[in-house]
Amino acid sequence: MSTPARPANRHHKRPRGEGQWALGYREPLNKNEENKKNDDGLNVRQRIIDVYSKRGFDSIDPADLRGRFRWYGLYTQRKPGIDGGKTAILEPEELDDRYFMLRVRIDGGQLDLEQLRVIADISNEYARGTADITDRQNIQLHWIEVESVPDIWERLEAVGLSTMEACGDTPRVILGCPLAGIDADETIDGTQQIHDINERYIGQKEFSNLPRKFKSAISGCTAHCTVHEINDIAFVGVVNEQGEQGFDVWVGGGLSTNPMFAKRLGAFVRPEQVHEVWAGICGIFRDYGYRRLRHRARIKFLVNDWGAEKFRQVLESDYLGYALADGPAPALPRGGRRDHVGVHPQKDGNFYVGFAPKVGRVDGDKLHRIADIAERHGATRVRTTVEQKMVILDVAPDQVDSIVKELEAADLQVNPSTFRRQTMACTGIEFCKLAIVETKATASDLIDELERRLPDFTEPLTINVNGCPNSCARIQVADIGLKGQLVVNDQGEQVEGFQVHLGGSIGLNPNFGRKVRGLKATAEELPDYVERVVRNFEKQKNEGETFSE
Ligand code: SF4
Repeated sequence: MSTPARPANRHHKRPRGEGQWALGYREPLNKNEENKKNDDGLNVRQRIIDVYSKRGFDSIDPADLRGRFRWYGLYTQRKPGIDGGKTAILEPEELDDRYFMLRVRIDGGQLDLEQLRVIADISNEYARGTADITDRQNIQLHWIEVESVPDIWERLEAVGLSTMEACGDTPRVILGCPLAGIDADETIDGTQQIHDINERYIGQKEFSNLPRKFKSAISGCTAHCTVHEINDIAFVGVVNEQGEQGFDVWVGGGLSTNPMFAKRLGAFVRPEQVHEVWAGICGIFRDYGYRRLRHRARIKFLVNDWGAEKFRQVLESDYLGYALADGPAPALPRGGRRDHVGVHPQKDGNFYVGFAPKVGRVDGDKLHRIADIAERHGATRVRTTVEQKMVILDVAPDQVDSIVKELEAADLQVNPSTFRRQTMACTGIEFCKLAIVETKATASDLIDELERRLPDFTEPLTINVNGCPNSCARIQVADIGLKGQLVVNDQGEQVEGFQVHLGGSIGLNPNFGRKVRGLKATAEELPDYVERVVRNFEKQKNEGETFSE
């Protein structure tokens, strides 16, 4: 179908303008909106190729540097050595390093070995060997110089990868189940729908100026691994009463400082309709999203104000031009973990092997090693997961023992401890300009320490370590969510630490973790704190009870 038309300004008056284009607020109401109006973020690509990469960092227009570069996955890194207490005080230019983080967009987490090797080469040649798997299935590289960007793009694009709209006020990477198409239990394979949206809408000016970021997920995974509850838009595989496969659509989920779970629209979306329903919802966000205040500019605020019923009615009448059928809710996720770690059978008789790098941190050499191990065992497909893990697909039964042995020898554990398996960490102060505390090394040390102190603990337990309140690593839906902030230690000094949130979860019993009043742990005392919580849980739990219950 063609692009949904922008509706006339005839509905949904709000008493006070929030910067909604459809209500006539076209004049930019803040600096970000002004920058986007002055020039579309997508236009920066040519300037990077023609000007900035040739003339160097100092030639970059500040509005491009701190704004439009994001449309291609580029953020300036934090200057090393600036402590977290200065984050909120310094001007952006004082925090900026001359190097960039570059996010490679990996829709559905799907990579072949050639693509994996290209990322590995780029990591080694241009990014000092860095590579972090993110909780949105991307791979982030660091230490990138603007001079290298055209070459990096050329190499990525030669193998069908891109950094386009990996950040910025755009439709970001689309999450998909790493097992799409191979899982015997899946309700439906969403891969084609992810491709459809990519081909039609990513990198198109129709959706390159949204109020803020727009996060999508499409999956038929019965473990609901793409966390549809906390995406801006999610299509979740269902089978309707007539036995047709399709999707249930959810909108308005998100965490950060105002966490909200997504709402079901109650509509059944046929596979071929997914791209136009996605475009309709993205169009509503573009036209009615609140642009006046950045912190209210996510679709969740609009969905919360309108409610699911009105949202669906506007979608159908003004954007799709037809009514969607009602549909069933997805089946509850199967219990236990959602991460696809370990060795499990595929529907074709082969096996998939999920493994756990520590807090998503790998490097160029390790990515090469993963590609070599996969190839030696006859596999050609690798996946990233939303838990900062990876999966190799299509391993023949007689190759399983050997591949597990080789992965584990590379410290890519296939049978990891609970702590290695379920601890995630965001980027943190090492590179992130918004960070207050260090995260990756802290979380990594925490894992080592907990493995040493609690070697027999095997219950599911998620620990999410975040460097600030933005919740990139999902503070509020972890069993133990840690929000970075400065805290006062026993000697009265201000040091790095965490506000603790306990008992968050998604899945069977979605629930935001409770901020434990007054409970803050310094980074140093974190292992003692988590050990105490785990031991208390073990003592007090009833038969079969999980931590979040
Ligand atoms: Fe940066 Fe904060 Fe996000 Fe961590 S949670 S990556 S510190 S913005």
